[in-house]
Amino acid sequence: AEDLMYIEKQSYYKKTLNAEYNRRSAVAKKLLRDIEQGRFVVHLQPKVEIETGRIIGAEALVRKIQKDGSLIMPDAFIPIYELENVICHVDLYVLEEVCRILRQWEQTGSDSLTISVNLSRVTLMEKDIANRILNVCRKYDVDPSQICIEITESSSKIRLEELSRKAEEFIGAGFKISLDDYGTKYSNLAILSAIDFNEIKLDKSLIDGLEKNEKSQVLVRYVIQMCRTLNQMIPIAEGIETEGQINILKNLGCDFGQGYYFSKPISVKDFFNRYMEAEVKAN
Ligand code: C2E
Ligand code: MG
Ligand code: MG
Ligand code: MG
Repeated sequence: AEDLMYIEKQSYYKKTLNAEYNRRSAVAKKLLRDIEQGRFVVHLQPKVEIETGRIIGAEALVRKIQKDGSLIMPDAFIPIYELENVICHVDLYVLEEVCRILRQWEQTGSDSLTISVNLSRVTLMEKDIANRILNVCRKYDVDPSQICIEITESSSKIRLEELSRKAEEFIGAGFKISLDDYGTKYSNLAILSAIDFNEIKLDKSLIDGLEKNEKSQVLVRYVIQMCRTLNQMIPIAEGIETEGQINILKNLGCDFGQGYYFSKPISVKDFFNRYMEAEVKAN
């Protein structure tokens, strides 16, 4: 009887494993088809110098186009793709789009701009990821220094040594690196001294607090000072929506920001018309 139970149990595991495998590959297949059919689109949000409003870069943010043409936001699909271990297809597609955009802009004679891409912590752990990204850049003849890799702060749940090693690979390949969403509940001080980020993005939750409580101001001031002291990392405030936040950020010595106050993420065409064409004319 015990033997029988063992066999039953074994085939049960086998069945669920198979089902799991089939389900996974179905999601992967569907995703690759969606990518091929152009169902993903990249929007750009400017990063600006607060004092002058000058554009210093852009962040690529992915959206999925539904059959009726409406857009699905990334928070609704990225966690699923992460769970299914297929998110790297999206991240690499976005990178490829960004390379195409940079190429195209260069051909119009626009000034070169750095574009940031977000890498999921799942993608970050892919084998040889820095080289794979570098190869995409080479394919489009894009200099890696024009690409900034945003790593989200919750990546620090990954062992710090492992994250440092990945960061070194990106730096070695010539990419810029940015620490996204800093100041959320996972905030980690060690990460700032362990890794030479080019940029630290102060999370929207900190910026939201600026007008409401002194504590957020103290925290922001403290992070900005750390950025300056440790390796000259550039602090940039995320999710700025009000004039009040702008004034406080200026007082705290934060020179760069991003948020609806300046612009929502917009289509590549709108971004070009609004920010790049002006540059071309000015030259
Ligand atoms: P994130 O990288 O921290 O990007 C900032 C998010 O805040 C974006 O949401 C942006 O539209 C939004 N935002 C910017 N300024 C403001 C503001 O002033 N007010 C408010 N309320 N929101 C603001 P979005 O585009 O929905 O993206 C959400 C998250 O999805 C991103 O957070 C990023 O973690 C992830 N994501 C986006 N694109 C990609 C991608 O290509 N790959 C991966 N792995 N993740 C991505
Ligand atoms: Mg980001
Ligand atoms: Mg962020
Ligand atoms: Mg975020």
